[in-house]
Amino acid sequence: MEKDQSKIIREQANRSATREHSVPLYLTSSFIFDSAEQGRAIFADEEEGMVYSRYANPNTTEFINKVCIGEQAEAGLAFASGMAAVFASFAALVRHGDHIVSSRAIFGSTHQLFTQVFPRWGVTHTYVEAVDNKAWEDAIQENTKIVFLESPSNPGLELADLEFVGGLKAKHPNVIFVIDNCFATPYLQKPLKYGFDLSVHSATKYMDGQGRVLGGVVVGASSLIDELRFFIRHTGPAMSPFNAWILSKSMDTLGIRMDRHCSSALALAEALEGHDEIDDVKYPFLPSHPQYLLATKQMKAGGGIVTFEVKGGAERAFRFIDALQMILYTSNLGDARSIATHPGSTTHSKLTDEEKINLGIRPGTIRLSVGLEDKDDIINDIIQALETTK
Ligand SMILES: *Cc1c(COP(=O)(O)O)cnc(C)c1O
Repeated sequence: MEKDQSKIIREQANRSATREHSVPLYLTSSFIFDSAEQGRAIFADEEEGMVYSRYANPNTTEFINKVCIGEQAEAGLAFASGMAAVFASFAALVRHGDHIVSSRAIFGSTHQLFTQVFPRWGVTHTYVEAVDNKAWEDAIQENTKIVFLESPSNPGLELADLEFVGGLKAKHPNVIFVIDNCFATPYLQKPLKYGFDLSVHSATKYMDGQGRVLGGVVVGASSLIDELRFFIRHTGPAMSPFNAWILSKSMDTLGIRMDRHCSSALALAEALEGHDEIDDVKYPFLPSHPQYLLATKQMKAGGGIVTFEVKGGAERAFRFIDALQMILYTSNLGDARSIATHPGSTTHSKLTDEEKINLGIRPGTIRLSVGLEDKDDIINDIIQALETTK
């Protein structure tokens, strides 16, 4: 059988009569019917066919199919952004009185949904520490509808035990298990095989990989995807065909890019570990990581993010970032270009000090998204910035 990456590269929307090699961009809002009878049959679900790009489009379908191959999923849906995908995964499934169990260290906007938006609709949540298996089990209540997590976490790079948490599905068959698999990508981590029902991604990050377009995707069990399809059809957060065309092309190189992101990130983590000007280096595939064995069990490689703490707190962290010569400062991640972020003053600045510590964010914490440049150039830029800001 062909390997996933070969299948992804070979997946393509049906060729048109023009016999193009590369898939065209289907910038069309609607699709014509050959006859009144065909229009009736398609609307009645008696015949398959595209209707309107809010529902489906050849470019978005091609992209979704590739993510389904990567995650070994039955079905999927594409969204205008990662947050549209995360929001729909909850909003389409919960009702008033439901409860969500989630890992504490989650993407900032997802935290805002749990704390600011869903309470207005009578949906409550309980946070647990992702690393604490017993806490997951204890947090599930009678009215729990969804168990949600991110692993590895941002920016602390802590892992949830996917086999354990996914295994709770057997005891709680009515609870829906959802993972935001954005940091690992389908190439490094396949959560559905552990019992998770849905895997959500911000395609904006590694799937695009070049900082160009926003996108989101959800894949998993077809019965749940059908519920989400109803929601997306009638609320409209669909992915643009243009973004889908870009993202589908990007999926062809996801594996080879992730191999490079991961090998350079590991080399950087090894180079920084024990450096005089650094207090702590976190990387899942570094043997000193407290969950190294779990990481090597559930991930193919450690991912493209390295988190470390420079000595001297926020003041030093600012000087360090300003001293970087090649590496850019922006809040995005998963790009061909290496990116440094100071989570404490940007992505996670709205949190209290206690919340920051819970997520592993200290004043000197730097999150490095390791790009595709030569690894020596990345390491050398960081070392020179550490040396010149002593
Ligand atoms: C970026 C990100 C999101 C949100 O995705 P957008 O495409 O920016 O809307 C959600 N989850 C994680 C883990 C992310 O990194």
